[in-house]
Amino acid sequence: MGKGLLRSIVGYGRKVYDLGRRLAGARDKREEPATSSEEVAAAIFFGGLLRIRSFNALEPKLREKTFLRLVGAPESRKKLCSADTLSRALRKMVIDSVRSITVGMLQQAERNKVFREGWVGAMRYVAIDGWEPICSYNRHCENCLIRMVDARRRDGTVEKVPQYYHRYVVAMLIDERLDLAVDIEPLLPSDLRPDGGTKDDEDEGELTAAKRLLRRVKKTYPWVDVVVADGLYPNGPFLTLVTELRMGAVIIIRKEGNEPLREALAIWGDAPAEQTFVDDKARERIELWDCPGIETLTSYNGPIRVVRGRVSDLRKPEEPPHTWCMVVIGKAMKLSATQVVRVGRGRWHIENTGFNQWTQYWKFCHVFVHDGNGILALYWLFFAAYNLLTLFLYMQLRSYGRDRGKDVTRTISRLVDEMCDDLVRLTRSPWDTS
Ligand SMILES: [Zn+2]
Repeated sequence: MGKGLLRSIVGYGRKVYDLGRRLAGARDKREEPATSSEEVAAAIFFGGLLRIRSFNALEPKLREKTFLRLVGAPESRKKLCSADTLSRALRKMVIDSVRSITVGMLQQAERNKVFREGWVGAMRYVAIDGWEPICSYNRHCENCLIRMVDARRRDGTVEKVPQYYHRYVVAMLIDERLDLAVDIEPLLPSDLRPDGGTKDDEDEGELTAAKRLLRRVKKTYPWVDVVVADGLYPNGPFLTLVTELRMGAVIIIRKEGNEPLREALAIWGDAPAEQTFVDDKARERIELWDCPGIETLTSYNGPIRVVRGRVSDLRKPEEPPHTWCMVVIGKAMKLSATQVVRVGRGRWHIENTGFNQWTQYWKFCHVFVHDGNGILALYWLFFAAYNLLTLFLYMQLRSYGRDRGKDVTRTISRLVDEMCDDLVRLTRSPWDTS
């Protein structure tokens, strides 16, 4: 790429996703700011793209000509602003205005038929999961959730102390090639709950926030077909919501005593697998049991299918097989048992490509600004940067592999290093198309 990777990515964002106009849509509630919301949004977006570690690390860049060119500030500007200004603006950022950047890009990608092929069974999947990037004993804000935890005193005795944290439910579009951040919803502390709780009530649970999130996901992206989840989610109220939204679900169920798994296990008993599938490429043997019409869950009015897959690694015959059980409803009913297992196992994308990468490489867990609104605004801008990089990687640089390997994170790290090198040599703004 003769013109440099950084310039190529900005050009791709500008041409394909209208990035400039979208960043210009950012709004915050400061009065007569010297640095516009758009410049703040661009600084955080590019800080995210270049994986800045902290606002301290970003501070000197805000005075560098090359960074000013990158964010599209006029050549006459000597300095963008201080890191304090960024943090103040984030606290006052209108969340919808930064959420729109990511949403607009994804809707454009859908119109560009990026998701046309879909994933398993040609459907589009979002995984949802709880995520707790921020946790502290001393710093807190009014959006912090609070729990009491054991802390050991110097004399060895244990006392209960408050721990402050921010927890979210995240929705990620998962696919063979690309995993994209689509939405995020905070769990609210007791007194900020939409049902009008007080300080004495409980903080909101993950399921409550997840239901709010799923409704919004379906409204924003009507083309999403199936939700994939784990842990908390195979329960009546959640399955009812999925049905109400005319979606499908594939949800991992682990507790053998819980319905509908208990019923399925009773039906299967010790019966041998109904089907065995050997995946030569993955070197796996998958034994399958499939129970299509269970109705024992009193809080859900409809048939539930339960699929069990017992996966043996043919390269390690001495190891015990791993068993997966999945609850399936709605649109996902049309998948074969093998496909159901594949989707359920694909859920790791949200932890692996999403949370682990965001924590390890994108510094989402660094507290750039300790304020509920500020954190969320920053995440939305980082999501836009993460999605643009992901789309660029898979749509433009196909040589980096449609077959995602284990090194995809290393590939991305290399790209980021290359972009940082390009920044130093940026003699002309990548937004200047004259
Ligand atoms: Zn807080």
